[in-house]
Amino acid sequence: MTRKLVTVLGATGSIGVNTLDVLARHADAYTVFALTGHSRMQALYEQCLAHHPRYAVVADAAQAQALQARLQDAGLTTRVRHGEAALAEVAADERVDVVMAAIVGAAGLVPTLAAAQAGKRVLLANKEALVMSGALFMDAVRVSGAELLPIDSEHNAIFQCLPADYQRGMAATGVRRILLTASGGPFREMPLEQLSRVTPEQACAHPNWSMGQKISIDSASLMNKGLELIEACWLFAARPEQVEVVVHPQSVIHSLVDYVDGSVLAQLGNPDMRTPIAHALAWPQRIDSGVSALDLLATGRLEFEAPDLQRFPCLRLARHAAEAGGTACAMLNAANEVAVAAFLQRRIGFTDIPVIIEQVMNCLPSAQVIDLEHIMHADQQARQSAFDWLAARA
Ligand code: NAD
Ligand code: MG
Repeated sequence: MTRKLVTVLGATGSIGVNTLDVLARHADAYTVFALTGHSRMQALYEQCLAHHPRYAVVADAAQAQALQARLQDAGLTTRVRHGEAALAEVAADERVDVVMAAIVGAAGLVPTLAAAQAGKRVLLANKEALVMSGALFMDAVRVSGAELLPIDSEHNAIFQCLPADYQRGMAATGVRRILLTASGGPFREMPLEQLSRVTPEQACAHPNWSMGQKISIDSASLMNKGLELIEACWLFAARPEQVEVVVHPQSVIHSLVDYVDGSVLAQLGNPDMRTPIAHALAWPQRIDSGVSALDLLATGRLEFEAPDLQRFPCLRLARHAAEAGGTACAMLNAANEVAVAAFLQRRIGFTDIPVIIEQVMNCLPSAQVIDLEHIMHADQQARQSAFDWLAARA
């Protein structure tokens, strides 16, 4: 069997590490082509020692030189490159079969889009890339014949519950609604008046999942679910009103599909990202992911409740952006990235996050998306508007 060549964008992050764990279990089927990392150079060095990639990509020339020297000393032939163009090149390289898109935020858009344009099997963790570029990204997938497989656990669950021919459209295949589950994050039950004083550490302490900082904050504000609502609309050609959010604190049901005959299909499993990663790597086959079997008796109870939009305005803002379309989602994403970074730096309170985003969305009208430059311009405008808000507050 010829081994599939895999590029892992964002290898040093939470998804990247889980991906390498699954790949290592199937060394007979997959070879690592390239690993990329932006900080955590020691972690990237150790990953190179373990996986012997042909390329490693880092942020700048100084990092590249230092890593190259260490790898050479260790007897590796890995070539270290740097910069954004190199990220896109290792994603689109003609030798590559599979690209794990696991860079966090807007920084992942260009390489993820490059993988889609090059017709790769794209394992999409970087939801921000799709939220920003929506139609453009899906067009690239269609034109190139890329295979787009969702890694976000909810979307991977939905993918598994949809009929194989769902591209014919939701109505044609009898799908009534998509039910996106949300854990509700660490602040689901906290008294409202305490929310403005929570710390980044509290916000990052997710009850069920261990993830990178940015997505952990997004999960606490429910912006993550908002971004996922937009992501679901693009991935599954759904209208925003066809996607409903249900809070399910146990995170055992990863999402559901409701059919017109009253059947509701769900995908369940332990909250461990290696399940969707293994699913997307091997689809339509199944491979071992290292995740233990779900113990329903130990789980005991599965609960559901409606999301509280007063507590979590970010979800409302994201739904508005999804309905507005055009550049609104790119602006929502950009304002959120600036607000989350400011919260992590303790410059603003947790409840300021939706205030900034709403302010930016109110100031900037949504425009039609024509090309990537257009999206980047909207992203920059929204970032500037959010920075202005922060400066005015300082
Ligand atoms: P993380 O912060 O742990 O890792 C992010 C990775 O991106 C790291 O390798 C980092 O070096 C790289 N990176 C950061 N900034 C960069 C830049 N400017 N240029 C190039 N590379 C850069 O994040 P994560 O939790 O692994 O999440 C990655 C993506 O997957 C996010 O889009 C997130 O929403 C999505 N996702 C994560 C999970 C999860 O369980 N962690 C679940 C679903 C979706
Ligand atoms: Mg998710």
